[in-house]
Amino acid sequence: MSETTLHTSERLKIIGYEPPDESDWLTGLHPMDGLLRGERLPHIWCQGCGLGTALTTFISALQWLEKNRNWDLDKVSVVSGIGCTGRVAGYLRLDSFHTTHGRAIPFATGLKLANPDLKVVVISGDGDIAGIGGNHFIHAARRNLAITCICVNNFNYGMTGGQVGPTTPHKARAVTTQYGNYEYPFNLPYLAAAGGASFVARWTVLHARRLSWTLREAMEHPGFSFVEIIAPCSTAYARWNPEGRGLDPQRLRRRGLEVMKHFQKVGKIGKNIHPKDATIEVDETGLITKIVEGKFLDNPSPDLRAAIDQQAKVAEKRWLAEKKALDERPMLPSRKGPVSRTEVQLGGFGGQGIMSAGKIIGQAAAIYDKLEACFTQSYGPEARGGAAGSQVVISSDPIHHPHLLEPASAIIMSQAAYEKYVPQLASGGTLLIDDSLVSICGDHRTDIKIFGIPATRIAEELGNSRAANSVMLGFWTAIVGAVRKKAMRQSLAESVPPKTVDVNLKAFDVGYEKGTEAKAAV
Ligand code: SF4
Repeated sequence: MSETTLHTSERLKIIGYEPPDESDWLTGLHPMDGLLRGERLPHIWCQGCGLGTALTTFISALQWLEKNRNWDLDKVSVVSGIGCTGRVAGYLRLDSFHTTHGRAIPFATGLKLANPDLKVVVISGDGDIAGIGGNHFIHAARRNLAITCICVNNFNYGMTGGQVGPTTPHKARAVTTQYGNYEYPFNLPYLAAAGGASFVARWTVLHARRLSWTLREAMEHPGFSFVEIIAPCSTAYARWNPEGRGLDPQRLRRRGLEVMKHFQKVGKIGKNIHPKDATIEVDETGLITKIVEGKFLDNPSPDLRAAIDQQAKVAEKRWLAEKKALDERPMLPSRKGPVSRTEVQLGGFGGQGIMSAGKIIGQAAAIYDKLEACFTQSYGPEARGGAAGSQVVISSDPIHHPHLLEPASAIIMSQAAYEKYVPQLASGGTLLIDDSLVSICGDHRTDIKIFGIPATRIAEELGNSRAANSVMLGFWTAIVGAVRKKAMRQSLAESVPPKTVDVNLKAFDVGYEKGTEAKAAV
């Protein structure tokens, strides 16, 4: 039997039409009272505004899902931002959140990630979603976050008086563009689809039934679903534009209706339309001449949560392998005796391994000497060749302050680092320099001990100039002695690329030997 031969009641059943319950007439309740906060009514929206229709279509979609899909509406949460549409959250008898301007999507993101079973719906205006919160919108789409985002587009910032917004049509008037909007608006379906949304649709409030069906589908969609609702703003927008017949105060109440009639005239429902062709066209006066409507995209794909879970499995596998390797690495017998807090400053330029050297010291102290250690680092603005510094704090007691207060020793491998860090060295401290790169100034400090080693030259002679930091580490270990030699060698061996382990250990040993001689000579 074809659809056209069906009885009206059967046709209504197919489209999901729910006749009002007779008890509503007896009790005087509105069929939507269950989902409306009556105590918050009357609402603040202007006469003729499209928001009432947007809200009731949303409620009817929820009621249908509750009845036909057994949805538990206690597991539905609505998030709004600021603006006329933002009020929706407050009128719904659901767990709803009226958040800050433009931040409905970040709020919804947290809500969804922390409560994966919750159905989270963002309902906000075009200024909120595409203007102030535009960045959040494209990133939620890109992540295919499993929320439904409903943007009620009234073409302007209505609540604040009708300023031009990101969806105001070109040449249309707004309170801040009295001679016509010189900017071009977003095509929101195209923006959402280009961002990565997997469900994209647009309807005007005039197509309430289709809109309600689409909202059902959008809310059942597993990924990021986006529905744009074009709604007349009878007050702030329609007063300046031909759709609402301008400023005539006598027509105030009728503006919304006139805009709806206009939408009926210019609305073009399309099938299989690419989102980029979901245009809203205007004429020379900014009058809307065409609104393409319909469902433009419905492409279920793994949502953010599924992607996280999938990657978490990979990460867990790798972490277990790394943990096994860590658990199985050879350990040293415990170090005897306490070590009072000592601070080490390392300085040089990018590419010398200043960060790696600091990390090797910290790791040797924490893992092999079983002390407390804290490592921090700082970079200059340049990627390579710029200033580089790292700091290590070592102690057998807990370290409550990770930054250096009075470094007792410094490993310095550039003249700039010498100028920068040596003044901070504690009186009586130990300065170790790569004297193939650093010269001691005439007015150098006389209250510190200074030891020099041509680390870069030694490393070059060993065949790898990048092992100069290992020479300095051996030199520092012999002279300062804050970490055991074996601990440093083990930490070094596991920190450098496998094929350079030998040359780095050789460099360390040469530095250690020179450090032992230098110390003995004092
Ligand atoms: S300002 Fe416009 S969008 Fe806001 S409530 Fe009034 S008519 Fe609706």
